[in-house]
Amino acid sequence: MRIGVPKEIKNHEYRVGLTPGSVREVVANGHEVVVETGAGVGIGADDAAYEAAGAEVLKSAADVFAAANMIVKVKEPQAVERAMLRPDHILFTYLHLAPDAPQTADLVKSGATCIAYETVTDGRGGLPLLAPMSQVAGRLAVQAGASALEKAHGGAGVLLGGVPGVAPAKVVVIGGGVVGAHSITMALGLGADVTVFDRNVDVLANLSHRFGAALRTVYSTAAALEEYVLDADLVIGAVLVAGAAAPKLVSADMVRRMKAGSVLVDVAIDQGGCFETSRPTTHAEPTYVVDDVVHYCVANMPGGVPRTSTHALNNVTLPFVLALANQGYRKALLANPNFLPGLNVYKGQVTCEAVANALGYDF
Ligand code: NAD
Repeated sequence: MRIGVPKEIKNHEYRVGLTPGSVREVVANGHEVVVETGAGVGIGADDAAYEAAGAEVLKSAADVFAAANMIVKVKEPQAVERAMLRPDHILFTYLHLAPDAPQTADLVKSGATCIAYETVTDGRGGLPLLAPMSQVAGRLAVQAGASALEKAHGGAGVLLGGVPGVAPAKVVVIGGGVVGAHSITMALGLGADVTVFDRNVDVLANLSHRFGAALRTVYSTAAALEEYVLDADLVIGAVLVAGAAAPKLVSADMVRRMKAGSVLVDVAIDQGGCFETSRPTTHAEPTYVVDDVVHYCVANMPGGVPRTSTHALNNVTLPFVLALANQGYRKALLANPNFLPGLNVYKGQVTCEAVANALGYDF
C-alpha cells in the first residue's frame, strides 16, 4: 500500500501523522510512504529524516493525495483536503464529526473510507487513541498551573512544591480519569499537596491504591468541592461525562470567593469547561483573570508540545496503520471488534451511530 502524510494545515497545528520512526516501520513492512515537504518541521523532523526513513518527499499536499491509497493525518481534513479525497482513499485521523456537519457531508460525498482515531475502542471501554492526548493534557495542566502561579504571570507567587520549612501549594484535581491521574502524577512529583475528586468510588479506590497516602481522595459533592476549591492554590478541571457537556462544578460565586492569585486550569474546556467563568483560550494567549483568579483554558493543550504529542500519538496509531496496510481495511476492521467502531464514513454512508444520530443521517 502507498501511505500519504500531508503537512497539517489547521491553524497552529504542528503535529504530523507519521514520525520518521513510524515511516521506517511501515516501509519495513513492504509499503511505500509519500510525505509532503515540510510535514515534520513542527516536530523537528526535516525532509532528509523522512527520506532516510525510506519515504519519498513530494512537493505538495495535492501530490500526496494523488499518489497515496491511505492518508494518515492528525486533525480532521480541512475543506481543501476534503476536496482531494477519492472513493479509493482510506483516511485515518481524528475526525470529531458529530458537531461538524459540513465535514461529514464532504466525507460522505467523497466516497472514501474514513476511520476516526477517537472512536476506536479497547477491551476495557476506553478510547486508546484519545488517551495519549489526555495524558499530555493532564501533565501539561500542572506545568501551566505552576507557571500561572508565578507572580509575573498573575498568580499569587507560590511555588508548587514549596521548600523545606515552607508549605507546598494546595492542588485540587476534579476528575480522576486519564487527565486527572496524569495531573496527580506531576503535582505529587513536584511536591504539592494534592486532593482528587471523583464521583466514581472505584476511580478513587484505584487512585488511592496507586498513589498511596500522598494523595487525598474525596467523593465529589458540591459541599466538599466548595470547601477544597476555596482553599486551593491550583484547581485542575478534568471531568468528563461521556456524550455530554462538562458539568459546571465551580460557580462564578465560588470563583469570586477563591484566594486572590489562585489558578484554575480547565482541561475540560473542549467539552464546554467545568468552571462557570471558563472560556476557550489559545497557546498564544493562554490565560485571563476573573476576580483575581487566573484562568488557563487552552482547548488544544497537546498542540503546545507537538513533539511529545506526535510521538505519543504514533505509539498508539502505528499498530492500526500497519494492520490497515498489511491486511487491507476490510480484513483489518472486521478482524478487530475494537477497530471497527473507528469506521465513521464508508462508501457514502455514515457508519458511526453517534454521528448519524447527531446529524440526522440514516444508520
Ligand atoms: P476520563 O473519562 O478518563 O475521566 C473523567 C473523570 O471525570 C471520570 O473518572 C469521571 O468519573 C469523572 N467525573 C465525572 N463527573 C464528575 C464530577 N461531577 N465530579 C468529579 N468527577 C467527575 O476523561 P479524560 O480523558 O481524563 O478527559 C477529561 C477531560 O479532558 C475531557 O473533557 C476531555 O475532552 C478533556 N481533554 C482536553 C484536552 C485539552 O487540550 N483541553 C486534551 C485532552 C482531554
